[in-house]
Amino acid sequence: MRSSTAELAVAITAGDRRALARAITLVESTRDEHRDDALDLLERLAPKSGGALRLAISGTPGVGKSTFIEMFGTHVINGGQSIAVLAIDPSSTLSGGSILGDKTRMETLTRRPEAFIRPSPSGGTLGGVAARTREAMLLCEAAGFDVVVVETVGVGQSETMAAQMTDMFVLLLAPGGGDELQGIKRGIMELADFILVNKADGDLKTVAARAVAEYRMALQLIRPRSEHWSVPVAACSALIDEGIGEGLRVIQDYESIMRSHGEIARRRSSQAKAWMDTEINDVLGDKFRDDPSVKKNLARIEASVLDGSLPPTTAAQRLLNLFFKAT
Ligand code: GDP
Repeated sequence: MRSSTAELAVAITAGDRRALARAITLVESTRDEHRDDALDLLERLAPKSGGALRLAISGTPGVGKSTFIEMFGTHVINGGQSIAVLAIDPSSTLSGGSILGDKTRMETLTRRPEAFIRPSPSGGTLGGVAARTREAMLLCEAAGFDVVVVETVGVGQSETMAAQMTDMFVLLLAPGGGDELQGIKRGIMELADFILVNKADGDLKTVAARAVAEYRMALQLIRPRSEHWSVPVAACSALIDEGIGEGLRVIQDYESIMRSHGEIARRRSSQAKAWMDTEINDVLGDKFRDDPSVKKNLARIEASVLDGSLPPTTAAQRLLNLFFKAT
């Protein structure tokens, strides 16, 4: 298979979209032999990756993420750049059903040769899905995309994961005003590098303006992520294409400011280190749970922890002893 990963790598760097799609399928596969090829491919392409601006775009279902990315992507392309859109969708890890991944989304963008859209991988754990999305991002970079968007659904842990693999976190909010603000978790506001209140059109325009002012106030209570950047809040309408071009310029400003201070490089290297640690923990955890002597005793020891007859630390130690004796 090694020669074919070499060929695949060449095809990807030459901009062959079918090869890119095949490579993403390969990194998403859980079969051991596919995993070896995927790692080989990622290593071959490592020198070619890292060139894109990595953007997380998040917001609750219905806020207008698809519509926004479609319009935003069009602006990116009209500016002479290419864009790839990936996703982390927690719902896809449960049943294979998905909030984000249906095929009818972003139809205009799908037809553009400068765009590449890939739904969230399904199945496995959320951590696993995020891992595959990160690898897909590296493949898209090797394929020469200028902007890689990681879209996520705005309902929890997938946000943190998207933030941990990108240079900038863009949060889309609805123009709900005060009530809306109550419902937004402080944690997600803390991740944001740029907040856009979408649907600022028609009757909602004045409500959106008020929401912008409220979010600005709320942000004053949050410690900024960087000393070189204070998080802007703006209104836009993805539907009628208002404020989207301005949004792109804010994103470009962010990129040049943060690059010039070395912050993007710093963020990326600490992300890469954290990524390696997670990978080690995940692989060790899987090996531990797959170990036959652990498997044989896990349920019994777990039950003792649940009924309080065994302290958790002792239980963990016993299971770890079984594992280390066996290895
Ligand atoms: P997603 O679930 O976050 O991806 O949201 P969609 O992009 O699918 O949009 C949800 C609904 O909101 C659709 O009916 C869109 O037409 C509508 N929508 C999206 N953006 C805007 C906007 O800027 N203004 C208005 N009025 N509606 C919008």
